[in-house]
Amino acid sequence: MAYDITLIPGDGIGPELTEATRRVLEATGVKFNWDVVNAGVDVIEKYGTPLPEHVIESIRKNRVALKGPITTPVGYGFRSVNVSLRKMLDLYTCLRPCKSYAGTPTHFNNVDIVIVRENTEDLYAGIEFEQGKSETAEIIQMIERLSGNQIRKDSGISIKPISLTGTERIARFAFEYARANNRKKVTALHKANIMKYSDGLFLAVAREVAEKYADIEFEDRIIDNMTMQMVKNPAQFDVLLCPNLYGDIISDLGAGLVGGLGLAPGANIGDEAALFEPTHGSAPKYKGMNKVNPMAQILSGVMMLRHLKEMEAADRLENAIAAVVREGKSITYDLLPEERRSQAVGTSQVADAIIEKLG
Ligand code: NAD
Repeated sequence: MAYDITLIPGDGIGPELTEATRRVLEATGVKFNWDVVNAGVDVIEKYGTPLPEHVIESIRKNRVALKGPITTPVGYGFRSVNVSLRKMLDLYTCLRPCKSYAGTPTHFNNVDIVIVRENTEDLYAGIEFEQGKSETAEIIQMIERLSGNQIRKDSGISIKPISLTGTERIARFAFEYARANNRKKVTALHKANIMKYSDGLFLAVAREVAEKYADIEFEDRIIDNMTMQMVKNPAQFDVLLCPNLYGDIISDLGAGLVGGLGLAPGANIGDEAALFEPTHGSAPKYKGMNKVNPMAQILSGVMMLRHLKEMEAADRLENAIAAVVREGKSITYDLLPEERRSQAVGTSQVADAIIEKLG
């Protein structure tokens, strides 16, 4: 049987990375029918929008998508295609493993953390009021009236909604994921001491959900303390349950702990669809140079294989990637120390080396 998968190459470095990933995934022996559709600034002229309806339809139909990064140009009048996709498909979980592979230039060799980030609420909900606008003055007046607090009239306002429903489903996802993947502990991140009604609600609901999973240890950390503990002793953490903003920041911190963005895969998962893409962006300055590391995109492909329950192929592919990193002969510049960067190979050569290891 072949899997119908939506493939969105993206822009910048996206097409090179998704091509490398497509070749590697096919080399596992698993069969795919790729439905290639494009989104981003390059399709605006043709479709009048960076996110054409047929792209959404394809994902809704196939329920699984592999996506390259897409640029969000500054100064255009549309929202990020990436954020829109997550919203339109209600991909409420952002799953980002941070795992150290032997051979990477990093201070830690024992990190194996999975970040479960809420993907639809919080300060990323996109509810904002611009400084100086009449509706902003109105909202300031209303808040002053209802809360009794003063806000400077020349403020801009961003709203941070965190709901019981949104928190409950992400908390349940984190515990279910922990259980299914033999993980021992979930740590919730928050700043509930300051934001009692948003982060406080997040923590209270996480605690309530935790009670239903007695087999999984539960703890919480205030986010500022957490960043210090992550860089001091990351091995103490297992699954991290995060509201949207802290999850975003801690993802890059996690990527830095295991050797950089070139090794940081990700998935956006909802009840109806799942979309697999690396944590990093489109790095436009490297477009078409066959230079950047495809491993984050390929590891996102490994996550996709696991989602499809192709466990054996996923393990084989992850082992092949780990072997290439360990050997250190066919790796891109980002995994090499400064003095050895002249020995770096390109994106497609990394894919070739992984395919060779697959045998
Ligand atoms: P970026 O992640 O694209 O690049 C930052 C730097 O990280 C690069 O200059 C490069 O040095 C390094 N890097 C990134 N990917 C790498 C790889 N695979 N191998 C080696 N090095 C790599 O971040 P940015 O420059 O802030 O964003 C560029 C564009 O991407 C922006 O328009 C942004 O909105 C967009 N973006 C898209 C997504 C997505 O599609 N999901 C995610 C993040 C950013």
